Amino acid sequence: MIFDRRLVLMITHKDGSKFVNVSMVFRQVTLYVVLFFLSFVFFIILSISVFRSEIADINAKTMLIEERNETMILGNAILNDEMNQRLQEIALASDKIDTLENEIGVNNSNDNLVDRVDVASITGAQKAFFMKFIPNGYPLEVFSGITDPYGTRFHPVLRIVRQHTGTDFAAKIGTPVYATADGVVDLADSGWNGGYGKLVKITHSFGFKTYYAHLNEVLIKSGSFVKKGQLIAKTGNTGISTGPHLHYEVRFLEQPINPMNFAQWDMKNFDSIFTKERSIAWQSLLTTINNLMD
Ligand SMILES: [Zn+2]
Repeated sequence: MIFDRRLVLMITHKDGSKFVNVSMVFRQVTLYVVLFFLSFVFFIILSISVFRSEIADINAKTMLIEERNETMILGNAILNDEMNQRLQEIALASDKIDTLENEIGVNNSNDNLVDRVDVASITGAQKAFFMKFIPNGYPLEVFSGITDPYGTRFHPVLRIVRQHTGTDFAAKIGTPVYATADGVVDLADSGWNGGYGKLVKITHSFGFKTYYAHLNEVLIKSGSFVKKGQLIAKTGNTGISTGPHLHYEVRFLEQPINPMNFAQWDMKNFDSIFTKERSIAWQSLLTTINNLMD
């Protein structure tokens, strides 16, 4: 006889009986549980490895982003440096632009007024006439440099564009100041003069004027006639001034023009003014002077 350990349940119903092999059911359930458990473990392992690779991926990306960020911060600092340098260069360049523009004659709306000056036909006597009546040469024999040039410039500290109507010559207080052409003193004032301080204004022939500002001492009187090279004042530091200097202006029909073009003008480079200062109808002036000398 075969030893049979199978447990068999007999379910009795009113229509008949049914046998259920309990051991078989138990085995099947166990199989399902094991299968479920195995697939669960497999799923967990799979998930963990997927997460791990994703985490590694994210870490790598984070590192890359951090590296890029560092590079960008460094790049930004370099750009900032460069920008500051450019701003300084712009401020410096704007100082020179006006001079340059005058030299090549692009900033002049009156350009069409200017005929070509017939340089070759100008006589020595005519040149001497110009040198007597139109501002030329420096108003000082001694100065230690130009501390602020004429023109529109971008102030790097105040971050504003401002117009400087003259040229500033640094000079010790008491340095002699000379008239740059014959003329008549239309102002010799020791007051504040709107920040100019002690000021001399000379009216010259043909629409020219010169200003000498921040003086320490005024040596002539309003209404007096002066000759080129005549001592008119001593330099100072009066009015709105950050240090001892002479603020020198040249005006034509009340409009400030670049004084350096006139300061550097002499008999030796007589023709230079015609190309440097284009706001004046030089040929027309030459004709006028010709007629005066006839
Ligand atoms: Zn000035």
